[in-house]
Amino acid sequence: MAPRPPAASMPIGIAVPNLAEVVAEIAEEMRVRADRGEVATYIPELARVSADQFGIAVIDNDGKAHVAGDGDVPFSIQSISKVFTLTLALGKAGNRLWKRVGREPSGSPFNSIVQLEREHGIPRNPFINAGAIAVSDLILSGHQPREALGAILRFMQFLADDATITIDNAVAASEQRTGFRNAALANYMRSFGVLDNPVDLTLGVYFHHCAIAMSCRQLAMAGRFLAHNGINPTTGLSVVTPERARRINAIMLTCGHYDGSGEFAFRVGLPGKSGVGGGIIAIAPGQASIAVWSPGLDPSGNSHLGQLALEALSKRMGWSIFGA
Ligand code: GLU
Repeated sequence: MAPRPPAASMPIGIAVPNLAEVVAEIAEEMRVRADRGEVATYIPELARVSADQFGIAVIDNDGKAHVAGDGDVPFSIQSISKVFTLTLALGKAGNRLWKRVGREPSGSPFNSIVQLEREHGIPRNPFINAGAIAVSDLILSGHQPREALGAILRFMQFLADDATITIDNAVAASEQRTGFRNAALANYMRSFGVLDNPVDLTLGVYFHHCAIAMSCRQLAMAGRFLAHNGINPTTGLSVVTPERARRINAIMLTCGHYDGSGEFAFRVGLPGKSGVGGGIIAIAPGQASIAVWSPGLDPSGNSHLGQLALEALSKRMGWSIFGA
């Protein structure tokens, strides 16, 4: 096979770094670091996960998976699921979705309620909790919760080409027992007519899709269509139009890391979405789909080592969308 051209931002004449070596190096660097962040405790089931773990998976253009550390260990994908529910909801409702959810960064914590009051129940974007609950409500409309969840899970299995992906019911139940703030957000939106379905049913769908368990390898596989203009490059199947893939990436870049989104763009320079389970999916357009996981979080709720690993990967491979 002809050698692949260097990444756009790689200066001519500089050797293209070896991806397999870079991934292995980063996994080793992260394994030995003492600073690991704090595991989320507000969902009791997540508090039981050990912060010692770090995993990484990078799927390159040829579909080759570079996996290291705990990259095959399933974890709670939490808010990363919101990328995929947004994709599904856009497929169902098209641009009507943007009547219910904005697409501006919030600059507020992921579960903030104050902004909703000022903005008449319309959440700032589909990745903060209120926005994702409104997206779950759209997917639920016209279906039983079981059917809506089945559609979300099958979509993940299809994208990752892996039928073993499941929902961790213990995590979902744990969140359902303690998700008072999400219930407040949902009830508040319902009072403005932003949700159509009974709040407990919508929240049931939301909590369960957040509780999907996947490994870095499975997540990176599932994200491939976003790195390739909406197409799965292995099967050639179109998942979304190129325009939609570009827009989903834009929202990931501007809103994917709560009120740490600016910092992530500054340090990593890739569209990404994190979850409080410690996972992050990141897209190097035209180059690779990436997932990292380490359960310890920074104060904004983003994986501490996950961000460091992505910063190193993007820099060493010259993948930042803003150039070298
Ligand atoms: N299910 C979590 C919640 O609603 C998702 C949080 C996250 O990963 O951002 O609080």
